[in-house]
Amino acid sequence: MTFHINILTLFPDMFPGSLGQSLSGKALENGAWSYNAINIRDFTEDVHKTVDDTPYGGGAGMVMRPDIIEKALLSIENPGRKIYLSPRGQQLKQPLVQELAATETLTLLCGRYEGVDQRLLDAHGFEEISIGDYVLSGGEPAALIMMDACIRLLPGVMGNKDTAGEESHSPETGGLLEYPHYTRPAEWVDADGNTHAVPDVLRSGDHAKIEKWRRDQSEALTRERRPDILKD
Ligand code: SAM
Repeated sequence: MTFHINILTLFPDMFPGSLGQSLSGKALENGAWSYNAINIRDFTEDVHKTVDDTPYGGGAGMVMRPDIIEKALLSIENPGRKIYLSPRGQQLKQPLVQELAATETLTLLCGRYEGVDQRLLDAHGFEEISIGDYVLSGGEPAALIMMDACIRLLPGVMGNKDTAGEESHSPETGGLLEYPHYTRPAEWVDADGNTHAVPDVLRSGDHAKIEKWRRDQSEALTRERRPDILKD
């Protein structure tokens, strides 16, 4: 199965962007995922290629027109799950990423200006997803972030298939933050001449002890940094 993403945008050249590099870039080449960036402006009919208009009720900014976006949407043969990237939406968290990565086709609508006419979202059953409690100038960076998080979970994309389940926020590890990592050299002397050793337990070869140490570190880190995500 190829994970396919349709993107409705005013800036199709923003894709694949960073996703054309590294693991996601290789996965794109290998056909693990594909995308189609559709320029909403191609579906305008006036000479100025207008996609927005002033808001009913007054106020600042412009709103993207439902009729133009609908034409762009209807040009997609199989839109699959329809998502509007929006700061008002359900927050993107790892369980939702896992769910989206297991979906065959997504259509992501990227807003600009003040956003999209509500009637388009209601009429076509778009769900709204936010990447965080802050406001971006457009949905494209949010779409790229959502796509990145999904693509790395696709079968064969990451070298070590066990890695994904052990990471911060994974339901498999109770949603905890990940324990700290260390690599060579075992003793590192920093630029000020201070020596930093790797915790002994990690070099002990005792897998049960290592697992317990990591679990304890994860719990302590989560308690300290993110008590809001600790379960009772
Ligand atoms: N007026 C909107 C509001 O206050 O909710 C913000 C519009 S924002 C300037 C333009 C577009 O950026 C939105 O339509 C949405 O597609 C995208 N966007 C902004 N922040 C986002 C976020 N946190 N998550 C996902 N998309 C976001």
